[in-house]
Amino acid sequence: SFSTAIGAPKIPTVKWSDVGGLEDVKKAISESLKANLKINSNNSKLKRSGIVLYGPPGCGKTLIAKAVANEFNITFLSVKGPELLNQYVGQSEQNLRMIFEKARLASPSIIFFDEMDSLAPNRGNAGDSGGVMDRMVSQLLTELDTLHSKQNCNVFVMAATNRPDLLDPCLITPGRFDKSIHVRPAQDLTSKLRILEPVCNKMTLEDGLTPEIIAKNCPEIMSGADVTSLMQKSAMKALANAIYLIEEKSLKGDAERKEIENTNVIVKLE
Ligand code: ATP
Repeated sequence: SFSTAIGAPKIPTVKWSDVGGLEDVKKAISESLKANLKINSNNSKLKRSGIVLYGPPGCGKTLIAKAVANEFNITFLSVKGPELLNQYVGQSEQNLRMIFEKARLASPSIIFFDEMDSLAPNRGNAGDSGGVMDRMVSQLLTELDTLHSKQNCNVFVMAATNRPDLLDPCLITPGRFDKSIHVRPAQDLTSKLRILEPVCNKMTLEDGLTPEIIAKNCPEIMSGADVTSLMQKSAMKALANAIYLIEEKSLKGDAERKEIENTNVIVKLE
């Protein structure tokens, strides 16, 4: 069923230190979250507000949203836009209502809408047969607005999209998703290095190989996902090589076998 698809709200295990670079993004999200957690619904002057993270795929939008929940020790509900959509009339809005209800019960919590553009595109779109999108956007606006009127309801909303231009402008207003943050791929050496560091810390590099050397040999623009997959591929190659060596040595004496078994898996960059 849908409720099992979104899963129980949990505190993610991703740490700040697992997110390489993106310091300005981390700072902006933390500040906004802190301010929101302080808001008391009795204080009508302050309104809650959510954040839209936008930028190309693989740059860490989901990763950073999980890390912020971990950092603040709050539960996290992640929903992919298309998962909410249901062909049955009224079911999609019901799904949305359920998410907000779950988040309220698990509060303090974060609801993270991934692929937000597929959920809340500009209303009046010609491709919206049956008006399901229009109803979703209206429902989302209602849910966001009622968050303010609830007592002790610390639900922080975040969204991610590759296409911020497609979002319904009503969502990007004060009290709703009023902050947009660009999450960019690494373009300069320092940012590449910052992304590489947490990834490299989880493996043993070959003697003489450093994150600096890797960063210098990277393509010009790299997302966090590119960096991670490059390093994982290298680790897999190194592992395959180590296994091959162990197999070779198994034909030989005990001492040589021990030596190989004690050797760490070393990442070699090809
Ligand atoms: P999408 O738009 O495809 O959802 P996204 O921006 O949400 O992309 P993530 O899912 O957060 O990207 O990133 C994919 C993977 O790439 C992460 O699970 C992580 O392994 C790695 N990654 C991305 N950015 C970083 C980063 N800044 N530091 C370390 N790893 C990263």
